[in-house]
Amino acid sequence: MSILLEKARQLLAERELCDHCLGRFFSSLGSGLRNRERGRALRVVLQMEDRSIALSQNHCALCQGIFTNVSNWAERAVTAVSNLEFQTYLMGTRVPTEIEVVEQALQQKFELRGEPFKQEFNREVGRLFGTLLAERGHPVQVDFREPQIVLVMDLEKSELALQINSLFIYGRYRKLVRTIPQTKWPCRSCRGRGCRECDFTGKTYPESVEELISPPLLRETHGSGTAFHGAGREDIDALMLGNGRPFVIEIKEPKVRTLDLELLHGEINERALGKIEVSQLQFVPSSVVERLKNLEAEKLYEARVRFSKKISPTCLHEAFAMLQKTPIQQRTPQRVSHRRADLVRTRRVLEISGELTSPTEALVRVHSEGGLYIKELISGDGGRTKPSLSELLQTPAEVIELNVLEVIGDFLSK
Ligand SMILES: [Zn+2]
Ligand SMILES: [Zn+2]
Repeated sequence: MSILLEKARQLLAERELCDHCLGRFFSSLGSGLRNRERGRALRVVLQMEDRSIALSQNHCALCQGIFTNVSNWAERAVTAVSNLEFQTYLMGTRVPTEIEVVEQALQQKFELRGEPFKQEFNREVGRLFGTLLAERGHPVQVDFREPQIVLVMDLEKSELALQINSLFIYGRYRKLVRTIPQTKWPCRSCRGRGCRECDFTGKTYPESVEELISPPLLRETHGSGTAFHGAGREDIDALMLGNGRPFVIEIKEPKVRTLDLELLHGEINERALGKIEVSQLQFVPSSVVERLKNLEAEKLYEARVRFSKKISPTCLHEAFAMLQKTPIQQRTPQRVSHRRADLVRTRRVLEISGELTSPTEALVRVHSEGGLYIKELISGDGGRTKPSLSELLQTPAEVIELNVLEVIGDFLSK
């Protein structure tokens, strides 16, 4: 008798095992076989030599006969997703400690390294779940990396938990007015609860880029909420022009995932006419959010600058030349220091140009590395940004109007 057969015989002598659990200890044998078939085959061969070995076994000291519940779990899962539109899923199991303990003890004792119980149970329920859905005209696929939904079976509590993963839509937005923040700002007085000061809206600003984009998407997906992820953000009083700023809108717990983005794009832009415009809407994996957060994109700005004294064109261009060749030491600006860590960063001005539009005003274009604060590059921020246009021209200088012309970078490719 081969060593493996002998081990199978000893296993069965030690514990009562169902075909699934017996077969699983030998999961590397016989390609294309399911554990149940493998277990059954071993049992048949052993019975030919030893009549005392039963050909079928319903009691199982390992799984407690749990595999007889596979169809029940699969049907529960089908019911749980009956109102959901999705294409990919992942099945998970919370395994009772006892099963794991017995399985590991037997593996160790007989020096066998089979597939874990959890993996087989997930697969068996998942397989039937997929078949039942396909019969209902709803084909789905297992996805281990980024499943749209996750079903977790708690065998001890007999509870099935459904987790609906977020849907991520990428786009770019242009902002055409100087009064809209990127995301909702809770009212400072009531922190969002609603008070007299905010007219019981709970908000400092009546609308935001996020709130102009999300309602049609929420309506179509029946999601429970949204989160807005921007590739940085412009100041509220700055316009976002050019081809816009990349963003990802995350729709939480969507019940529907197939959207006509072309149509929604039109609706969003119509609703927000004159305030914002979106473009390039497309579905993306969640990893794009990380990219948006981590990539410090180069930017192109246009600033209207006012000086406290008359400036000559020569002085202005000399100052530009200095800014372009000197790394800028910038301490976190005073105006954001309450929410950002106070530190000094070095950023470069890649290109700066412009001209005087009056003796005390100039239109300035700046191409900078990501992370450089432009208002402070001009004003000096009380010496916190060095050098600055103000310092070089030896006069107070202030940005009176700021537009972001371009956020440069490839946020989509891997
Ligand atoms: Zn079993
Ligand atoms: Zn309030």
